[in-house]
Amino acid sequence: MLTNAPRGTKDILPEQAGSWLWLENKIRELCKLYGYEEIRTPTFEHTELFQRGIGEGTDVVDKEMYTFTDRGDRSITLRPENTASVVRAYLQNKLYAKGLVKLFYIGSMFRYDRPQAGRLREFHQFGVEALGEKNPAVDAEIILLAWEFLKSLGLDDLTLKINTVGCPACRPIYRRKLKEYFTEEIDELCDDCKRRLDKNPMRILDCKIDGLKDFMDDAPKIETCLCDDCREHFNRVKEFLTAAGVEFVIDNRLVRGLDYYTKTAFEIQYTPLGAQSAVAGGGRYDGLIKEIGGDDTPAVGFAAGLERILLALELQNRLPASNKKIAAFVVSSGMAAEVYAFKLLTDLRRENISAAMDFGKKSLKAQMKAAAKSGAKFALIVGEDEVASSTVTVKNLETSAQEKVPVDEVSNILSQKNS
Ligand SMILES: [Zn+2]
Ligand SMILES: [Zn+2]
Repeated sequence: MLTNAPRGTKDILPEQAGSWLWLENKIRELCKLYGYEEIRTPTFEHTELFQRGIGEGTDVVDKEMYTFTDRGDRSITLRPENTASVVRAYLQNKLYAKGLVKLFYIGSMFRYDRPQAGRLREFHQFGVEALGEKNPAVDAEIILLAWEFLKSLGLDDLTLKINTVGCPACRPIYRRKLKEYFTEEIDELCDDCKRRLDKNPMRILDCKIDGLKDFMDDAPKIETCLCDDCREHFNRVKEFLTAAGVEFVIDNRLVRGLDYYTKTAFEIQYTPLGAQSAVAGGGRYDGLIKEIGGDDTPAVGFAAGLERILLALELQNRLPASNKKIAAFVVSSGMAAEVYAFKLLTDLRRENISAAMDFGKKSLKAQMKAAAKSGAKFALIVGEDEVASSTVTVKNLETSAQEKVPVDEVSNILSQKNS
């Protein structure tokens, strides 16, 4: 037990950390390009925030949250997603005073779920939120950011699906139509969908079981119910995406389960991942900020799962080669030389030259082997002679050429030869 991490968690070891860092750097570069600024919210929040912000009756809130009572008798929850926290921070810090606010985040989220490939209990998401603007151009900007991000990583086989889920004015009409339609098929519905029929018939559309059944093909489409505002909004989003040269598929069955979602919904799938193919998803949530206690404020965003993206990159052989090579490896023999070598090591690092030395007090020959194995370009050899004459023997490990140079010139010589 003591030597096993909890189920659904995973160590990111040094050989993988490079890929994570690379991915996070890509995210930060891209967000800068689009004018989104980073926000970091707490890992835990008051449970109520997620109950309100995600919604009771959802799987996330009812079955998947890590909730506990702290020593002050407060109910605390590890964040299962970050949108509610970002909205809380937006309201608490009065960020709305600035007009449109464009934010992104990268961080761990927590859900008590059955662990499988690309889905952990502690998982990582990158997401963006644009708060305070109803213009459909912002929906398109968010979708483009997600799309260009995945493209820029080198992923092919990506599909962008978009839909509209209407608004509080037109959605009830659609719900009623769906309810009527599915009531006729009630015997065919799975148990979950029998329950959804009353509360949220739109969720039947994306049911993993019933989605494959024949009656689904003739289910009413939301287009027939949209109000003018929602119709115009959706048309504009499509126009913007087309102008940007992005291909998309309209998927009438792409719905978001929650009431606060409005208008645009989208998902980007990486087909080779099969059941876990959704790598990014989001949309407009004009109803959320009010739900959490702010003024009626439009907003749109998405979240992307980093584990799944890394999995996709691995499948496509797109992960960057790890680069742990150092410039110099210091080798010494004798007690006095070890101190001299240690000072040299320190000086090189202060000059911004990556350097290592073998602390195992092995023979000179073994140290030279370690130097070769390290991938370093140079071995810096220090023995009694070098200490006595304030020099260092610099050996180029690629060409085997070596020369003795004054110790205070080593960093200069390495900088020149290394560039
Ligand atoms: Zn509407
Ligand atoms: Zn179902």
